[in-house]
Amino acid sequence: QNLGLTNIVPVINDALNLLDPTFKKNEVKYKVTLPKDEVLLKADTIQLTQVVFNLVLNAIYFSPTNGLIKITLDEAKDKVILKISDEGPGILNENIEKIFQPFFTTKTVGDGSGLGLSVVHGIIRSHRGTIDYQPNKPTGAIFIITFPKQ
Ligand code: ADP
Ligand code: MG
Repeated sequence: QNLGLTNIVPVINDALNLLDPTFKKNEVKYKVTLPKDEVLLKADTIQLTQVVFNLVLNAIYFSPTNGLIKITLDEAKDKVILKISDEGPGILNENIEKIFQPFFTTKTVGDGSGLGLSVVHGIIRSHRGTIDYQPNKPTGAIFIITFPKQ
């Protein structure tokens, strides 16, 4: 882990750029809302890119055609809040406890290693952050990630 003070705004843009072909291939749209100013965090840039990449990749996978994924970054006094929402089926109540465990997957086609969210969880924990799931309305998943400012 390589912790340095980094602006996480371009980190989010980098992850989205990497996924641009996947958005197009799956016919999924996204809307990203980022602060105008830089948002500095003591973080590992590569690991943060992986967090955004894995979460958005899942959101794309579970999105319907023409579904909209929203990525927002907000800054509070003591923390930075990243939200990623989609319009897919969301997560069954009985599975919410399991999704961060390694090898848990409900994917039936394509790559379903079940490692994406466990990696995300580990990286967020190592940054002393949190990740929570909320259902989207009328349908979909919302992942809320916070990172403390120190
Ligand atoms: P994988 O993508 O290989 O299945 P992950 O660890 O990334 O593994 O995700 C684990 C499981 O969590 C998925 O199989 C799915 O059941 C659920 N999940 C994750 N993200 C979403 C999402 N955006 N919408 C619905 N279910 C999701
Ligand atoms: Mg995944």
